[in-house]
Amino acid sequence: MVEEFAFDNTEERRKNRQNGTGWIEVIAGSMFSGKSEELIRRLNRARIARQKVQVFKPKIDARYSVEEIASHSGVKHISKPVSKTSEMMAQIEPDTQVIGIDEGQFFDMELIDAVNELAANGKRVIIAGLDQDYTGRPFEPMPQLLSIAEFITKTHAICVKCGGTANYSQRTVESEARVEVGASDKYEARCRMCFVPHSDAPTPL
Ligand code: ADP
Ligand code: ZN
Repeated sequence: MVEEFAFDNTEERRKNRQNGTGWIEVIAGSMFSGKSEELIRRLNRARIARQKVQVFKPKIDARYSVEEIASHSGVKHISKPVSKTSEMMAQIEPDTQVIGIDEGQFFDMELIDAVNELAANGKRVIIAGLDQDYTGRPFEPMPQLLSIAEFITKTHAICVKCGGTANYSQRTVESEARVEVGASDKYEARCRMCFVPHSDAPTPL
């Protein structure tokens, strides 16, 4: 009996759990809706539980410091900038349990197969990203990621014009480029009633 209790299979159980099924979580919404905050909250909890976490972001997002993801409220987490999906995949270590990806909308379409593969290999993958561009069109590959995710969180900001539920990122500078990196200097949160699908003057303070 004593021998039976003394048998420690902790390592074996840990390994089995690691190789179990993973899953995909997507956090999608407009700018200022708290996507990065929510991603960082989940990553911090995983790290507290001693899980191995790796975090990536696309190189295109140059706001704040390079080796970090940062929320508009100032919360930060270390992260590796990558220029494409294959570069991210090459850096993922076999014993990593949780993978965080910020600004998912700036990745190439290969991200869809890649995160499916990671989840199939037992990893928890959490992707945050803008679901719509400044004209309100779905922002690929986020729609596809929303389709394949086990768990979806839609975040909202507060409309700066009327206080309603903001689902849109209103561009407030003249530009027709789909990707125009910026924060409150170039965008504001607006609801369906207050949003216009082109540049508009910023709401006065
Ligand atoms: P996202 O990643 O979705 O752009 P962040 O997590 O970076 O969002 O930032 C969320 C923070 O943005 C909020 O906690 C708040 O401090 C700030 N913020 C700025 N404008 C707004 C707004 N109109 N509604 C809500 N939060 C806002
Ligand atoms: Zn509004």
